[in-house]
Amino acid sequence: MYKVTIIGSGPAGLTAAIYAARAGLEPVMFSGLQPGGQLTTTTDVENFPGFSHGILGPELMDNMTQQATRIGVRIFQKEVSRVDFSSQPLRMYVDGEEVLSQTVIISTGATAKTLNLPNEQALMGRGISTCATCDGFFYRGKRVIVVGGGDSAMEESLYLANLCQEVILVHRQDKFRASMIMQERVRRHPKITLKIPFTVAEALADDKGLTGVMLKNTETGELENFPIDGLFYGIGHSPNSSLFAPFVDVDDHGYIRVQNFTETKTPGVFAAGDIADPVFKQAITAAGMGCQAAIQAAKFIELMSEA
Ligand code: NDP
Repeated sequence: MYKVTIIGSGPAGLTAAIYAARAGLEPVMFSGLQPGGQLTTTTDVENFPGFSHGILGPELMDNMTQQATRIGVRIFQKEVSRVDFSSQPLRMYVDGEEVLSQTVIISTGATAKTLNLPNEQALMGRGISTCATCDGFFYRGKRVIVVGGGDSAMEESLYLANLCQEVILVHRQDKFRASMIMQERVRRHPKITLKIPFTVAEALADDKGLTGVMLKNTETGELENFPIDGLFYGIGHSPNSSLFAPFVDVDDHGYIRVQNFTETKTPGVFAAGDIADPVFKQAITAAGMGCQAAIQAAKFIELMSEA
């Protein structure tokens, strides 16, 4: 029986693990089959404090993992296939075996949705990005496209308009689902142009990276070759929360609802990082939530032992 079990090994999970280990709670972590989360698929990270010259995403995650293991966190590169949080102790199933724990910190993250273009994976970090806040700086003075019509796409466009020469917002229909206020800000911005109703049919590239896109008018089918320096996806994220229903509440997009910082509706089950954050989705905010979850789990265990 463990005191703290952490599911997921991005910045939220690893920060929770570090805090729980230093509180003497001997945490275990199930890191999943692709440990390290979204940062392992990025290149330079220049917005995580403490690295004056920036750091590569995979290296940052490697450092966090080493920090956690050095202070005693046991990390299993395995997936939790099922959970039963209906009573204490909380139950998880890993490789067919039952794992019992007093508390669980869910930090399974979210996966950025992409357009699944054939050469997309090869161009990630070489012209295509899923995070303006993370990568916008590399496109200063350049011309970029943002795809999407929700609040994420609006926010990314506005963020990039502060850095780039021109931002073209491409959306597949002429109605936006973003809030009115965000739409208005985008429409009024002198550096942002709308390109609707269009989709990106193809990413054009040379051996250095992205050079442009082929846009397709969704009403007429007309194709347009569009030279561009950067392509940002703002088409939403899929939070990895389905495993935890019905023991947590989720919003319309699948993000786990938390109250009082990181508490879910099930006592002893906490959620931290992108899995519970539809707004900020940053490594540093995920790490902050991981810290909160570990401290709240410690408090929960203390109260249980007093009861
Ligand atoms: P949404 O699901 O709201 O929007 C996704 C957008 O991407 C839609 O316009 C959708 O088009 C488009 N899209 C999806 N798939 C494709 C595709 N394959 N090709 C082209 N376009 C596609 O996601 P968001 O991330 O924008 O927002 C999620 C939640 O987070 C919302 O509740 C939002 O309000 C919230 N949020 C809040 C923020 C804030 O408060 N500052 C900031 C960011 C998000 P279509 O409309 O045609 O389906």
